[in-house]
Amino acid sequence: MRSLKDHATLSNGVNMPWLGLGVYLIPDGPPIVDVIHHAIDAGYRSIDTASFYQNEAGVGQAVNTCGLAREELFVTTKVWNDDLRQARTLDAFEESLDRMQLDYVDLYLVHWPVPGKFVAAWKALEEIYERGRAKAIGVSNFTVQHLEVLQQNSEMIPMVNQVEFHPYLIQPRLKAFCAQKNIQLEAWSPLMQGRAMNVPTIQQVAEKYGKTPAQIVLRWDLQHGVVTIPKSAQPARIIENATIFDFELSEEDMVVLDGLDCGQRVGPDPEDFVF
Ligand code: NAD
Repeated sequence: MRSLKDHATLSNGVNMPWLGLGVYLIPDGPPIVDVIHHAIDAGYRSIDTASFYQNEAGVGQAVNTCGLAREELFVTTKVWNDDLRQARTLDAFEESLDRMQLDYVDLYLVHWPVPGKFVAAWKALEEIYERGRAKAIGVSNFTVQHLEVLQQNSEMIPMVNQVEFHPYLIQPRLKAFCAQKNIQLEAWSPLMQGRAMNVPTIQQVAEKYGKTPAQIVLRWDLQHGVVTIPKSAQPARIIENATIFDFELSEEDMVVLDGLDCGQRVGPDPEDFVF
């Protein structure tokens, strides 16, 4: 992982950039178009949105007006829980594409494992994939148990599982399970929604490498083989978060950062999420 162009290769051979821009809470319209254009100028090639974020239109507009060929970009979106409940995943997918004015997405995810509904939603994603409308399909917030249920009840194994992942929450069992099944792990809230900057151990490692705490944590993701999607709407931070390919954390410092794991979340726990 030496350059922003480096990518993970998913189980179906699709290339997914190691670093992407998360756009949760970035308002739709001109703000998000500007932010994404800036990120693309800085070298980002992957954008993570969701129908729930209500900014798919802006994401699509940014992609369609950035001047790069569509195939140079990697766009992820997700189907929301209400659509799973109403068994309308196929329609929800078409609505997302309509909002984005795109012919396909690179990755379509089941956003949360809504109990009793996620297997049917996954079958809809398999259909979307078979039709070539999503280059890859995956899930988000799935535990080992959810993944086992999918495996027992469907044809395809997800190519990606996007979960909360940062030094306070490594989830070693889930990580090992995904590695064994060739499911690419992807980190949401990799910066602990900004809190990582205030963790003394991370600050100390950052000082040692002459890097910022954000860069240390994002580099740690990469060295764990985890795709990462930090969110920022600030131009300087967008560049800062992408400047993580010019140094390497030692094994020793990886272990120091791993030692911070305390199972602490900044977002909801999929086990007791109120769907
Ligand atoms: P994050 O960990 O990426 O933190 C973002 C916040 O960190 C920013 O708002 C800013 O306050 C701060 N920040 C960013 N760069 C910084 C820097 N260089 N220096 C100092 N502070 C900095 O949190 P997130 O937005 O929750 O997660 C990232 C993305 O993951 C989201 O935008 C979204 O795309 C995705 N996500 C997915 C799910 C899911 O259920 N699948 C849930 C949450 C987030």
